[in-house]
Amino acid sequence: MKYDLRSLMKNDGFVCPSCGKRHYGGLSDCRIGEGAMEGIPALLEKYGAKNPFVLCDRQTYKAAGGAVERILCHAGIAHTLHIVEREKPAPDERIVGEAVMFCPPGADCVIAVGSGVLNDTGKILSRMKGVPDFIVATAPSMDGFASGTSSMERGGLKISLPSKCPDAVIADPAVLAASPAHMIRSGVGDMLAKYVSIAEWRIAALLVGDPFCETVAGIVGEALDTCVKAAPDALAGDREAVSSVMEGLVISGLAMNYAGISRPASGMEHYISHILDMRALAFETPSDLHGIQCGIAALMTVRAYEKLAKYKPDRERALAAVRAFDPDAWNAHLREKLGAGAEAMIAGEQREGKYDPGKHAARLERILANWEEIRAIISALPKSGDLEAFMRQIGHPTSFSEIGVSEEDAREAFRMAKDIRDKYVLGRLLWDLGLPPEID
Ligand SMILES: [Zn+2]
Ligand SMILES: [Zn+2]
Repeated sequence: MKYDLRSLMKNDGFVCPSCGKRHYGGLSDCRIGEGAMEGIPALLEKYGAKNPFVLCDRQTYKAAGGAVERILCHAGIAHTLHIVEREKPAPDERIVGEAVMFCPPGADCVIAVGSGVLNDTGKILSRMKGVPDFIVATAPSMDGFASGTSSMERGGLKISLPSKCPDAVIADPAVLAASPAHMIRSGVGDMLAKYVSIAEWRIAALLVGDPFCETVAGIVGEALDTCVKAAPDALAGDREAVSSVMEGLVISGLAMNYAGISRPASGMEHYISHILDMRALAFETPSDLHGIQCGIAALMTVRAYEKLAKYKPDRERALAAVRAFDPDAWNAHLREKLGAGAEAMIAGEQREGKYDPGKHAARLERILANWEEIRAIISALPKSGDLEAFMRQIGHPTSFSEIGVSEEDAREAFRMAKDIRDKYVLGRLLWDLGLPPEID
């Protein structure tokens, strides 16, 4: 592998051979390996911390928090441990408030034990306190370990809150391998999303001028290959393989930091997942782990791209569809399907004006001029049949109905995904071409 984690960590801040920019990773220490947690006292010393605050929930305490506590006690390091008692804590005001209220004023480092909510909360707390942030991972379930944002629910809405890139990520393969298979599949699903996100990053560079970097795309592509190769053995409990999956996830997060945008790691499939999360929050509809939703949505998106590649763009059809488009009716639809969460999307469109007919006409000309190139990008995606077979091989769900989401809701999520943010994704390309989500 050209880009292993060790060399990337050394390269925190490098001048890029492809785009000429200086890329920053942000994560300084990453220890994935047997006995990694034993290195925590030395890491604390490196960061000058003497009174860490350890944040866990019941599950993560059992998985690794207890071991962290023993290691700190053994090393004679004064610390405060807080265990969130409720089952499945939500990433909301309550857990952040709880963390703030239980964290003593003298705490000089936050050690969040978990994968997801606890990490996101720890990043917010350490940013607030201006102290180092360590993550002790308990499952390779998503690629947010190295990211500088926290995926939260604020005021009942899903947001990505700027928080802090952790200083150290620590993962013991024995802990990771013992995590539920569904969580490992979720991590792999979050990586399968990268097939789509990289392709869409290229398309967006062509059509709307998003800054693209071949080096960063290459780093993500390699991390993805590593994860795919390791996934079957990781799910069979192989520690080396599960370490490879974890490494891929950390690298993917680093790549987002390098790019300074989420483009390398998230596209249409993440937005579909986001819509399902918004609906779950507003209406308590079924939802699943982030990576599982992204994996299924990636397959759905790859299928849609395959259909699109066979389509011959039609200028008149696209212009007529845009003339017939009723933004007020569409906004009413968003409000009905997404509740209060729709407002931020509608406000986003008012700022961006992607439905403006003049802007559309200009984009349409670029699409027509670049159609063969777009088709070439699509042809580099994996075949949907191969992707589906791989997902089945590792027991990853391949349809939303398997996780309790109806076909109608899945189709709706696909339709609404284009409005999540101002990123140019498949849903936008279809709208620009005057095509329905089914593509006919
Ligand atoms: Zn670059
Ligand atoms: Zn993700």
